[in-house]
Amino acid sequence: MFQVTGEEDIDYGALCIYILVMLAIVIGLYIFLFVYTHFLKKGSRQHYCTYCGKLVDVESRCCHAPVEEYIFKKICSKCKKETTVMCKKCKKIIMD
Ligand SMILES: [Zn+2]
Ligand SMILES: [Zn+2]
Repeated sequence: MFQVTGEEDIDYGALCIYILVMLAIVIGLYIFLFVYTHFLKKGSRQHYCTYCGKLVDVESRCCHAPVEEYIFKKICSKCKKETTVMCKKCKKIIMD
């Protein structure tokens, strides 16, 4: 009887640790995603321009406005359409 109670306590402890680990992973992922999307939405990422030969600031090809960059596409912050980025200095399109 005493042994059974002891085993139950150990099981509860393991379950608690399991839940805490899962919570920590979920919270960690949430924070990571928040920081990641926040960083991406800033649109201040620099690109390497092959013509200038260095990292440069970019602007959208359509409106010459800042670009909101996502993982698979780039959105012009002015007209909200998909766009390509170009070098602010030499006005050449940057492919990456
Ligand atoms: Zn350039
Ligand atoms: Zn635009």
